[in-house]
Amino acid sequence: MGFPSALPDETLYSRLIRYQMLTGLNPETLAINFFGRKRVSIHPFLTIGANRVAELAKEDVNSILKNQTLGHFFAFFLPKYKKQIFSKLLQDDAAAAFRACQLSNFKNNEPPLIKYCPDCAKEDIQNHGVSYWHLFHQIPGIDTCPHHSLNLIKVNCSENRTFPAYFLPDPSQKSEVSSYESSEFAGYVKTYFARILSTESYSIESLKERIRHSGYGLGNSRFQTGRLCKDLHLFSQCLNNTSASLLISSPMEVRYLFFLLKGGVSQHPIKYLLLEFLLSRVIVHSEPVIKVRNEAKSIAEENIEEKCVKLLNKGLSLSEISKITGKSRCYLRGLAYKRNIELESRPKKVTPEYRAIILMFAARGFHRKCIAEHLCISTGSVEQVISSVPELVTRRKRMKYESKRRRYKLQILRSVEANPQAIKQDIRNACPNAFYWLYRNEKEWLNKTMPLALKPSPPRKMQLK
Ligand SMILES: [Zn+2]
Repeated sequence: MGFPSALPDETLYSRLIRYQMLTGLNPETLAINFFGRKRVSIHPFLTIGANRVAELAKEDVNSILKNQTLGHFFAFFLPKYKKQIFSKLLQDDAAAAFRACQLSNFKNNEPPLIKYCPDCAKEDIQNHGVSYWHLFHQIPGIDTCPHHSLNLIKVNCSENRTFPAYFLPDPSQKSEVSSYESSEFAGYVKTYFARILSTESYSIESLKERIRHSGYGLGNSRFQTGRLCKDLHLFSQCLNNTSASLLISSPMEVRYLFFLLKGGVSQHPIKYLLLEFLLSRVIVHSEPVIKVRNEAKSIAEENIEEKCVKLLNKGLSLSEISKITGKSRCYLRGLAYKRNIELESRPKKVTPEYRAIILMFAARGFHRKCIAEHLCISTGSVEQVISSVPELVTRRKRMKYESKRRRYKLQILRSVEANPQAIKQDIRNACPNAFYWLYRNEKEWLNKTMPLALKPSPPRKMQLK
């Protein structure tokens, strides 16, 4: 029985399981055949047995290690341990390979997990007749399938580590839609991961150069660490599915960056990838300090908006888009109005004719409730239409301001007229809202209109003395 050839992006672990399924051999017998011992621990992405598989399948052992385990991924980010990682994998010493990848130092207390996307599993069955474990899904810190924007299902594989038998992804499981940011990040890592195969090793110096180029430099040798931490933290908050131990915990956690840029200290590869992803999204401006900060803050927001517009143009329903992007239906409807996108699920009553009527009444200063009652639609719908025209919003704000100004001034004037003997304090107590609003916005007019302040006279006791 030949060894099953590798399917696209398949792990060595997955091939071993498929071999066991094809031969029908007892896992223990297979372990003896492969490794010369009954009990052997097989790791999902640092899998041993490459030598034996290369022999059986007549393949290049280095190619197996590179394309079917994450050995090269860790070797790329930890060049100091590159030789050790590959030699331990070739010696079938899984525990030593795990230690060489520094995984025991990364404070990752999770049990050994294997991950898969149920939609990928379904597609694999359709295309190849079998579901299998993808290598990309196994990258620690990646919890989303970039193709289907689904959260990866995590399966505890500690029980199956002796030698996995009949253990392949179950396509019948359901998974939730991931956040937009997680999906984008996973897509970025996937592209990066493909590039790693032909690259030597990760360079911290190049990373520093990219940080400077992205507007976070401070002179020739320093960085705006605080600002970079703040932006990194802002982005990390959007990755709700990634293990918290891999993310920056607060905008003040400067040491997170310090250790990344220091070199020398082994850091989890995903931390570098998070930083690289953030830098890839920052738009470089001639005024880096303020402008980039503001833009970095709204990077995620801008990307979401563009993604929403794309999906709206595709004709997806508001609830579907809301599920994918995490944005509310109100936000999406407002965005559609703003960009003049026809909505399939738009309420029938708010037709283009109604929209024109709403805008006309709004421009004339009618209250939104009056417009809603007149057209027999909800106030929210009227608000949506009005807020899609920024000039109209500004004009209505001004009108509201003027109306309030006139009303409050009249209140004060009437109060002064009705109480000619009243002092300033009496008027203030009689109409406090008007007084304080005018005090903030029309102080000069208020001082002129209010009763004159009385000259303070000393108490009688003082006069006697
Ligand atoms: Zn998938």
